[in-house]
Amino acid sequence: MSSHVVLEARGLTRRFTGVLALSGVDLRLFAGEVHALMGQNGAGKSTLIKVLTGVYPADAGELRLGGEVIHPGSPAAAQRLGISTVYQEVNLCPNLSVAENIFAGRYPRKSAAGFWRIDWSRMQIDARALLARLNLDIDVTRLLSSFHVAVQQMVAIARALSVEAKVLILDEPTSSLDEQEVKRLFGVLRQLRAEGMAILFVTHFLEQMYAISDRITVLRNGERVGEYLKAELPPAALITAMVGRELSAAAGRNEHPNTATGPALLEARGFGRRGQLNPVDLSLHGGEVVGVGGLLGSGRTELARLLFGLDRSDSGELRVAGERVRFDSPAQAIRHGLGMCPEERKVEGIIAELSVRENVALALQARLGIWSYLSPTRQKEIADRFVQALGIKTPDTDTPIALLSGGNQQKVVLARWLATEPRLLILDEPTRGIDVAAKQEIMNEILALARGGMAVLFISSEMDEVVRVSDRIVVMRDRSKVGELPGNSSEQAVYHLIAAGT
Ligand code: ADP
Ligand code: MG
Repeated sequence: MSSHVVLEARGLTRRFTGVLALSGVDLRLFAGEVHALMGQNGAGKSTLIKVLTGVYPADAGELRLGGEVIHPGSPAAAQRLGISTVYQEVNLCPNLSVAENIFAGRYPRKSAAGFWRIDWSRMQIDARALLARLNLDIDVTRLLSSFHVAVQQMVAIARALSVEAKVLILDEPTSSLDEQEVKRLFGVLRQLRAEGMAILFVTHFLEQMYAISDRITVLRNGERVGEYLKAELPPAALITAMVGRELSAAAGRNEHPNTATGPALLEARGFGRRGQLNPVDLSLHGGEVVGVGGLLGSGRTELARLLFGLDRSDSGELRVAGERVRFDSPAQAIRHGLGMCPEERKVEGIIAELSVRENVALALQARLGIWSYLSPTRQKEIADRFVQALGIKTPDTDTPIALLSGGNQQKVVLARWLATEPRLLILDEPTRGIDVAAKQEIMNEILALARGGMAVLFISSEMDEVVRVSDRIVVMRDRSKVGELPGNSSEQAVYHLIAAGT
């Protein structure tokens, strides 16, 4: 790590109507370092990045690049100065080729027959060279949309590097990548760091943050809490800095795993679907949290979808409270007392333009059918109850859900299913992309629900959460169940079974 400051922000302030998103924030980025920007949802991370990259002007404060005061008026201006960004949402053009995406807006040109034309072959050669720097060898003439999101992200980085970047900024680059892809991205970041680039990086994954970063700046409520070297800030101290108070060690932890016996609420035998899930045996009892441990692609979500009737099984049998059932649609599963929070909150979960109240009422209305319409007053009663019970932070239940933070949106989706009073709730990644404190609250909520008699199937790609909250852990690999472990097992034990299980 060098001691040369490349980019320095002093006293940055940015106000939106009613919100002080940044309040006198300082930041220093050194050449040849990976710098993590940490904070809960709403702390001001994205706003800071947008000010650094010219999306918004600051209301006050100063920005210096290599000692010179700069005023980037747009992302393009910031990029010309050497500050490149990969935003949270990969915002490239899926219907253009990879090469076009890398050079969009500044295609290389050549003179031909007296005209300046786009130099397509130059562009392809340059695109290939840039991607080679990222260890990626793909056909740059293919449409971007034909590649997986991880490749699209690499293309976004290649685009960021296609100008002489001194600073590279990434806002949650790993949220849609699997483990291998994260490794690959980190390999690239390490290489760029070795070349002297200053890298600013936002993530919600603590483990990843510790794996890659050298220095950490923590924001809370729009203010800078501090700047630390990684070694100075162990996880507990980091969380305290982010949250502003100490979280008790017991938060969200299942101290007394429930070893449920007796008749199962749900019993699956040889249950599966060709090409999706190899036949599994699984039982769930009221009052227990059963975690599903497995890597991305292990069949976790496929299991959840089959149980809930989103996909149809083609082998085995399923019983709910002893009764043989067959779900051809979620409506049938809901009538038998099942509920499910799906994985992609943005896609399947929330309806952005509806209010909190309407979002909570959705599943209950579906269960009651169109003949027993829930009046707005009744909807409001139910929504108010859950806003209270889950501590959902919203001005009122008529607020559009889109205005809530990610953690609070997630709680609304949870409330929706709780309102149907399910006997069995399937949670697929209920804590994905939300901050540490909201995670703990949701995990506490899951435990409380189970202790109230509900059966919970809990899927999470964060293994530490699975082992913390579960009474029992079903371990999956390659679309098969490879075993079960008791709830207080270590993460290593789960990984070991994944690696060894057949
Ligand atoms: P983070 O990225 O750390 O989650 P943000 O920078 O997105 O936080 O948000 C900081 C605060 O500023 C939040 O209270 C958010 O609601 C508010 N905010 C961010 N962008 C806007 C905007 N364009 N208009 C109004 N308020 C905004
Ligand atoms: Mg953000």
